[in-house]
Amino acid sequence: MKEKTILLGAHTSISGGLYKAIEEGDSIGATAIQIFTKSSRSWFVKELTEAEIIKFKETHKKSKIKVIIAHSSYLINLGSPKKDIEKKSILSLKQELDRCEELDIPYLVIHPGAYLDSDEQTCIKQISKNLDIILKNRTVKTKILLETTAGQGTNIGHKFEQLKTIYNNCEEKDKLGFCLDTCHIFSAGYDISTELGYEKTIKDFSKILGLKNLYAIHLNDSKTELNSRKDRHENIGQGKIPKKTFSLIMNDKRLEKIPKILETPVEKTQDYEKEIVFLKSLVK
Ligand code: ZN
Ligand code: MN
Ligand code: MN
Repeated sequence: MKEKTILLGAHTSISGGLYKAIEEGDSIGATAIQIFTKSSRSWFVKELTEAEIIKFKETHKKSKIKVIIAHSSYLINLGSPKKDIEKKSILSLKQELDRCEELDIPYLVIHPGAYLDSDEQTCIKQISKNLDIILKNRTVKTKILLETTAGQGTNIGHKFEQLKTIYNNCEEKDKLGFCLDTCHIFSAGYDISTELGYEKTIKDFSKILGLKNLYAIHLNDSKTELNSRKDRHENIGQGKIPKKTFSLIMNDKRLEKIPKILETPVEKTQDYEKEIVFLKSLVK
């Protein structure tokens, strides 16, 4: 009975067509999936055709997938000190939002940005300014979700406070939300390896960012230690985050309605099935 309400799945592949990601999701027993709406390594692509949009929506309707989340291209950096990259990031993200709207995708996850040879405060201000530029005068239904990061290199988003500042500086708050990645926060120094630490982390998140603004969770184990500031995903139960933590998450009433997405290393989408089965088995 409980399975009905679990929103759980993985990042699935769009190779061969966007609708393929939905079929893949179905084949691994997912109820939620994450996709790229275009190649994650390209700035721009040609617009979606009517046929592609219809095929996607029809496949979705026939599937068991309840929630589809989009993840933006890795090239985008709204906080880049390089003017050409900043400009391309804004245009590219606008295009991604357009695609989400056309496909009825309610959430688009982005990495906040990296400051490179600039500094943290400048970067944070620039990210907020650019989010407003992108979101202003748009009657978008799609929300942009700022993802917690591991804090690798000069990446912003490894402290909840940084995300809070970005959010606070934006005028278009109703079009923003957050995505929590378990590998990233652990790597960033949030010790979710114990029940006490987990509880403190969720309380901090709740106090600083608000659980009502949390719309997606990335369920990943971490190859590297607490506070390593590295972004190395590992399969559930194979890394440094204890299985117990994933059990806490899967049974946390506060997180019950939030879609949970695996981004663990797999050779093929089919390999996600056993992780989904395992995570479901943790639900009491
Ligand atoms: Zn991400
Ligand atoms: Mn993630
Ligand atoms: Mn990552």
